[in-house]
Amino acid sequence: MKLSEEKCTGCGMCVNVCPHEVFVMNDKKVQIIDRNRCMECGACAKNCPVSALNVESGVGCAYAIIIGKLFGNEQESCCTDSGDCC
Ligand code: SF4
Ligand code: SF4
Repeated sequence: MKLSEEKCTGCGMCVNVCPHEVFVMNDKKVQIIDRNRCMECGACAKNCPVSALNVESGVGCAYAIIIGKLFGNEQESCCTDSGDCC
């Protein structure tokens, strides 16, 4: 997930839709507080009105499913076996 701070208008939509609290608002711009929490579900990019976010959707979800199966902590994933996400 990539953020273009120049394009961001500070609408806050990505903060609202992100299920993993990756963003916070900071002085009318959004800021990434923990990139490692991102599961690349794509919700932020889909809801950003100015295309300030870019997500390679699916990579993180597949990774989360694999890690969940390997370590038995599928509850940590926002994804399902069918690929549905968040
Ligand atoms: S892709 Fe999903 S998890 Fe990652 S920052 Fe965007 S909304 Fe949050
Ligand atoms: S949805 Fe887009 S414009 Fe709105 S705060 Fe997030 S990055 Fe900025």
